[in-house]
Amino acid sequence: MAIYDLKCESCGHDFEKFVPGFLKEEHKQCPECDSRDVVQKFNSFSIGCSSSASGGSCAPPRSGGFG
Ligand SMILES: [Zn+2]
Repeated sequence: MAIYDLKCESCGHDFEKFVPGFLKEEHKQCPECDSRDVVQKFNSFSIGCSSSASGGSCAPPRSGGFG
């Protein structure tokens, strides 16, 4: 089970999709305008966490305190 953060590129609607497994193309549909032009958003803690270059000082997020 997983929850994916998605965003509709057509109308800009942000929504979450609850998927029992991996996200498939068939799951990428906007509930507002039924557009298939939906992209998956990245989790905020994964942005700016590049392991290359400057050594990589990336601490994993502590459970319970996120959000
Ligand atoms: Zn939409």
